[in-house]
Amino acid sequence: MNQPIEGKPARYWHVLEDRRIQCDLCPRYCKLHEGQRGLCFVRARRGDQLVLTTYGRSSGFCIDPIEKKPLNHFLPGTPVLSFGTAGCNLTCKFCQNWDISKARNFDRIQDLASPEAIAEAAVRSGCRSVAFTYNDPVIFLEYAVDVAQACHDRGIKTVAVSAGYISPEPRTEFFRHMDAANIDLKGFTEGFYKNLCSGKLAPVLETLEYLKHETKVWFEITTLLIPGENDSTAALDAARAWVMDRLGPDVPLHFTAFHPDWKLTDTPPTPPQTLRVARRIAMNAGIRYVYTGNIYDPAGQTTHCHGCGSVLVGRDGYDITAWNLSADGGCAKCGTRCKGVFEAVAGRWGRRRQVVRPRAFEPALSPL
Ligand code: SF4
Repeated sequence: MNQPIEGKPARYWHVLEDRRIQCDLCPRYCKLHEGQRGLCFVRARRGDQLVLTTYGRSSGFCIDPIEKKPLNHFLPGTPVLSFGTAGCNLTCKFCQNWDISKARNFDRIQDLASPEAIAEAAVRSGCRSVAFTYNDPVIFLEYAVDVAQACHDRGIKTVAVSAGYISPEPRTEFFRHMDAANIDLKGFTEGFYKNLCSGKLAPVLETLEYLKHETKVWFEITTLLIPGENDSTAALDAARAWVMDRLGPDVPLHFTAFHPDWKLTDTPPTPPQTLRVARRIAMNAGIRYVYTGNIYDPAGQTTHCHGCGSVLVGRDGYDITAWNLSADGGCAKCGTRCKGVFEAVAGRWGRRRQVVRPRAFEPALSPL
């Protein structure tokens, strides 16, 4: 027998002439009969409304280094309280987090947490920010926005790790509550998005341009380079040309290594040299901050001054090994400003990963 659908009322939907409900949150625009769920699985029709079934429920909380999101220009070295829920609005065959994004059994998402408890947990554990990550937060917009407001009330910043696959109106609301974001640019052809993610590239590019030109959100871009799928010279050329032309030279790029996973188990891991070459070519094209990820490569993860070339932030994995920046991001040697959100000293969280239970902070707060 089907389980009754539980959840909180969702935003961004309307009723069609044939009485189906259309979800307007992302470019899939799922059209739902009574009892049906959208492709993301977590937004569902209950009676004459759409509900979010994962409000207040998480697949787990961890304190991570901010560099793990990855964000290299946003409060480097600081701890970030990170969590996700379940489901996803893309169907990437190479998903590296498929146990969460494909979760259908909600017994997996045991951790219940109110927005206030999450903010409290962040404050008490010394985190500077809370990250919506592990699965795409746009599909739990209502929960993410409430958590973000509770965090801002307590002086905690907010970070979205997202594929940027969201419609224009909810995009405005969602990013209004974010201080920083890492956006996955998964490939640079419509064919890649269609064949491997059953999605479209154009809405992602729109999100990137929106963030750059219409918000103050600090954002960086990640591309998982998959051998034979999105690592061709032509694709990388198109990507860096678009970034330079539409976003300018100061948006950091991260090229990260693929590991065989989910439905792409016959594809080999990305050779480290592929990442290093992609980084070098992008920097030669004028992009100032380009990094490698998921491999051991201190040189490829260090931030250099684009004015004099000296090391601004040295990194060894997630450890900060050198810090030559002023509070406003000025190079200690030549004064050239490095774009990002910095403070006078680096955080000291290092590479630690620590599990947190926000539920422990609930009793003093109102119930969910
Ligand atoms: S958010 Fe979910 S339900 Fe809404 S359109 Fe996207 S995939 Fe469909």
